[in-house]
Parts: sequence; structure tokens; C-alpha cells
Amino acid sequence: MTKVPELFGSMVFGDKVMQERLPKATYKALKKTVENGEPLDISVANVVANAMKDWAVELGCTHFTHWFQPMTGVTAEKHDSFIQPCGDSVIMEFSGKELIKGEPDASSFPSGGIRATFEARGYTTWDPTSPAFVRDSTLYIPTAFCSYTGEVLDKKTPLLRSMERLSAEAVRVLHLLGKTDVTRVATTVGPEQEYFLIDREAYEQREDLKLCGRTLFGAKAPKGQELEDHYFGSIKTRVAAYMRDLDEELWKLGILAKTKHNEVAPSQHELAPIFSTSNIATDHNELTMEVMQKVAEKHGLVCLLHEKPFKGVNGSGKHNNWSISTNTGENLLSPGKHPEDNIQFLLFLSAIVKAVDEYQDLLRITVASAGNDHRLGANEAPPAIISMYLGDDLGALVDSIIEGKDYHSHKAAKMETGVDVLPDFRKDSSDRNRTSPFAFTGNKFEFRALGSSLNIACPNYMLNTMVAEELRQFYEVLKDADDMQAAVKALIKDTLTAHKRIIFNGDNYSDEWVAEAERRGLLNLKSLPEALSHFMDKKNIDLFVSHNICSEQELRARYEIDLETYCKQINIEALTMADMAKKNITPAVSLYVRELADTALAKKALSDDIPVSVELDAIKSLSAKQEKFVALTAQLEEATAQAAAITDNQEKAFAYRNKVFAAMEELREVGDSMETETSADYWPYPDYTDLLFGV
Ligand code: ADP
Ligand code: MG
Repeated sequence: MTKVPELFGSMVFGDKVMQERLPKATYKALKKTVENGEPLDISVANVVANAMKDWAVELGCTHFTHWFQPMTGVTAEKHDSFIQPCGDSVIMEFSGKELIKGEPDASSFPSGGIRATFEARGYTTWDPTSPAFVRDSTLYIPTAFCSYTGEVLDKKTPLLRSMERLSAEAVRVLHLLGKTDVTRVATTVGPEQEYFLIDREAYEQREDLKLCGRTLFGAKAPKGQELEDHYFGSIKTRVAAYMRDLDEELWKLGILAKTKHNEVAPSQHELAPIFSTSNIATDHNELTMEVMQKVAEKHGLVCLLHEKPFKGVNGSGKHNNWSISTNTGENLLSPGKHPEDNIQFLLFLSAIVKAVDEYQDLLRITVASAGNDHRLGANEAPPAIISMYLGDDLGALVDSIIEGKDYHSHKAAKMETGVDVLPDFRKDSSDRNRTSPFAFTGNKFEFRALGSSLNIACPNYMLNTMVAEELRQFYEVLKDADDMQAAVKALIKDTLTAHKRIIFNGDNYSDEWVAEAERRGLLNLKSLPEALSHFMDKKNIDLFVSHNICSEQELRARYEIDLETYCKQINIEALTMADMAKKNITPAVSLYVRELADTALAKKALSDDIPVSVELDAIKSLSAKQEKFVALTAQLEEATAQAAAITDNQEKAFAYRNKVFAAMEELREVGDSMETETSADYWPYPDYTDLLFGV
């Protein structure tokens, strides 16, 4: 293995390569665009494109692609070669125009009714703030995606806009506080990614895993996660080899892969990078998920990113660690040694508290998906109720501000291990709370309700925009104050008092919290259809439209796409289930029953004295269950057909949730129970032991 510093970023057209390969003036102009958001000139783009192409060709590239993030939930790419005819030969060429603009046919990407298929034209536009990179002999150029008429059709554009909005509003407030040297702020994100790794051979035999990414049938294995022996456990050789390979591939792409460990469920693992700006963190997380799957193939494994691949053990999530820092290097969410005197920190904290309270619904909406519905509120992930955890110290400080009392900070206590050879160290000021959906963790917030497969652009553009809006309101309150200190303090107190209901430092998994949250008037939106029914509330439209993140029509398109995707996913699951039931499970049970019957008859033929009660009991039990199973399969098909016929997306989503999903649960119960009574030789699918303990 090459040394890591040499390997790191070797496939990225990053700062070092640009400095080496671009003329000084071009490099400077590009830097200005990247760092200050200044528009880019075509002459600059021409020079950059040529240097990029030379660099990529040296690395073996023949093609380039604009890489974008449409509303499908996965990234998209269309490859073009660099060839240009020259006499009877070709040369390798790449122009500034090709770098800046691409024209993929947009008609087959979801647009939520914004455009008809005959209006096919769409554009991709180079995003110079996220570096180009090389993968599979192709130069990848991160881009934004919009329609011919300018409607936003992707996830990156709103994110970039929200970062600019938050920056502008935060800078105005910082200037009021005297920080006039700050000219930009950036949001930073470090997403922790959970995943399952299973054996490819077992996977290939499961129609549900192949088509839906999760098991639709499967009786519990005798062992699950009850011994708690997998979490942080020693990593198996085959998994360790995969992780090593994965790290290397990610490092080549300039991704700061840092932490890896086993997670709670058997076969479940986590990877966390070091944080970067939201935009790059988003691109890198999308890439990470793709590379995870690719590298798994090489190792005869499959990486499952579904939120709930297996019933009865934990599903997978993603923790979105989020903060704001200035171009002068200050983390605005760092409380410092004396948060009680740090009014700048308390002001930004207040803005976030207000944002989370006023836009609880949006935070819930942004993590809603068919997959994540299995986790939220299932005592393995944060509940569907959005609240914030501040920890004991900060919680006490907030209480003292609201009550107007003095605050005495707890000195960071020394941790004494009581063993001389072990060094003593300072404890963190607060313990961890793993149950809160939105937890303050020292100098950042950790939004924990995300599903493992989610594109983090969405939660982040919502978060950025809602905080931008609160800062805008703060600016209006403060801008004409004579005594700024006093005005800021009063605003902090008023804001925290008005929004304290969103702060909860207890156990979010408890039933008491559900009741308490209801008393406090907090939302408890249990499933996607319930959550999405708030998407188009006036306050949400106003938020996005007033900050120019998207138009009302674009927002509605997103809402329709989310509902459609949800319905389509459950529809596919229901059809897959019925298919498995009819083509494999029911016939397998019949064959096994015949084997039992043949055995009983053969025994009888030998002698009347041989008992056959084992066979007869098994035949009776399985036959009764099978009859029920067949009837429930028909019911599921009926419910699915009815839901599919509904035209209103919101109503349709409710039908999929309340009728189809419910029918799937019923069918599964009987199917799983038959699995426990059927000989493994006859059961058509690898079981949970093979899947969860097969690597
Ligand atoms: P945990 O306590 O959840 O295990 P860590 O302290 O290891 O978390 O950090 C988790 C993630 O938070 C990492 O990806 C880390 O880079 C990220 N992180 C740390 N500081 C910041 C920050 N200022 N902004 C955004 N993310 C951050
Ligand atoms: Mg975490």
C-alpha cells in the first residue's frame, strides 16, 4: 500500500493539482469563485477544462461525466468521451463550455408534474465548489440540475442556495455584534453512515433483498442482538479486509474516512468521516454510499443501505453532525469556557432553538421515507417527535436565563480511574444522550433521525434555511438597538422562553415522553403520509419562497415526488411479497406437506403400530396456516390494486400505509410462522441465520 498522504486525494482535481497545473491568474480567478461565490468567466473555464482533461487523461480517463443528484434519491451520470475528429484520427478535447454546461434529457427524471415529457430539455451546471474527481476511467464533474425553463430539479441547488442565505443572514448579525471582519460563514457537516454487510450468495437467492433492499419475509434467528456483543466488537477478518479496501478507495477520492466500527445489530457497521462544508459533505456521502456498494462486490459481499433490512434487529440510520463556522475560523456553536458570558453563542443557540420549534414539521418531513418509517419511534432510533437535547450544563444555563437567575457553571470534573497506571483526564461537561433526535454535542448539533440511505442535502437545506430565517428576524429586532448588549440579552431570554417546549433532556424512548410531548403541543407525525400532509403549510411555503430556495411550484413538485416515491416503493414491496408467496413459499409448503403425507402413508403401509402423529400434526398445522396465507396473499393483492388506482397522491399514500402496509404485516406473520415449521430443505430462501451470521 502506498503511504496514505500520497494516496489521499490522488484522484481529485483539488487545490494542489490546480496550483500545479493552472496558470496563476486562472487559479486565482477560480479560487475567488469557490471561496467568495463570484461568477466565473468562460475564458477561465476554458483553461480549467483543458488542464482537467490533461490531468484526467494521464490517469487513464477516456470519458467525462456531469454528475448530478436528481430527485430519484440516487446520483445520475451520462458519459461522453473526450474524442474530437481531427483529419482521419481523433484528439482528446474538453472545452470550458462542456465543463460548465451539460444537456441531459430531463424527461425521465422525476419532476413532480413540473414538466411534461415533451419538454425534455434539462441542464447540468458545473459546481466549482465541489472538486472534480476520477472514477472508473471517467472524469466526474459535480453539477447542479435544472430544467430548460429554470426550475430546480435536483438536491444540490437548494443546498447551495441555503448555504448562501444562511451565510448572508449570519454575517449581518455578526456585524451587529462587532465581528466586522467576518465576510462569510459556512455550514459544516459530518455524516455518520450505518450499513449492513451480508454474503452475496445468500443475497442473490432472496428476491426481496434484490428488488427492495430489505427482507419481506424471514423468521427471527435464534440469536439476534440481545447479547449486545456486536457493538464495537472485534471486526471479522473478511469485514476488516472490506473496510481497509473501502478506506483506501475513499481516501483516493479525497474523502476523509476516519472512524469504523461494528454497530448494534449482527452484520451491521458504521463509517464516519471528518466533517467538511455541507456541499462537499453531501457529495462525499453520496460517493461513499456508492463506493461502499462497489467495494462490497469485490469481496463477495453486499452492502445494504436500506433503513430496515431485517425485522427484529436494529435498522440503519445516519447522524448529521452540523455546525456553522466563519471564514475567520470560528465555530459559532462552540460555547467556550463560559457560555453564560458568551452572548454570541447564546444568540445563535436561540436561533436554532426557535427554528427547530417552529419548523418541527419540516425536520420530520425531511427524514420521512418508506424505509425510515420502520425506525422512527421504534425504540431503536429517535422518536418521530422532534425535540432538542442540550445536556445538563447548557440546559441549566438556559433555565437560569429563562428564570432570570444566576448561573454557576460546573467545572469540568476530573475523571479519576482509581488505577495508578491509567492517566486521569477531564470529563466532558455532559453525558451523551442517544435518544434525542436533535442533540447538542459540545460544539455542534447532531440530527439523528435520518435514514441510512437518505441524501443529506435535503435535511441540510431545510436546516440552513430555517436558521437563516430566524437570524433574519433577529437582525430586524436588533438592528436599531442603542444598547446592543442589553438588546441581545433580552432577545435571547424572550426567544428561549417562548420556545423552551422543544427542549427535552430526558429519555426520548419512554412512553412518558410521548404523553409529555403531547401536553407541550409538539407534533408526533408517525409516518410519511402524516408528516407530508404538513409539507405545503403556508409557513413552509413562505420560508422557502422568501429565501429564494425554491418556488411554490418547485416545493409542490418535491412534495408530490416524495409521496409518489413512497407509494411506488410500497407498491413494489407488496408485489414482490405476493410474488414470493405465490411462486415460492406456497409451493414449497405444499411439497413439504406432501413429503410428510408420503412419510405417514409409508409408515402405515409398514405397520399400523408405527405412530404418525408427528406428521399428522405438522400437516394439520401447516395446511391451516397455508390456507390463511393464500387468503392473505389475495387480500394483499386486492389492497394493492385499490391503492394503485387512487389518483390523489396524499390519499394514495395513506392507502398504502393503512391498507397495503398493514396487509403486508399480516401476511408476513403467517409466512414467518410457516417458516419455523417447514424443513430447511424445502424452504426456498436463506434464513436469518444465514443472512445475519453468514459473513
Ligand atoms: P459521536 O459522539 O457521535 O461518535 P464524534 O465526536 O466522533 O461523534 O463526531 C461525529 C461526527 O461529527 C464526525 O463526523 C465529526 O467529524 C463531526 N463533527 C465534529 N465537529 C464538527 C463540526 N464542527 N461540524 C460538523 N461536524 C462535526
Ligand atoms: Mg453520533
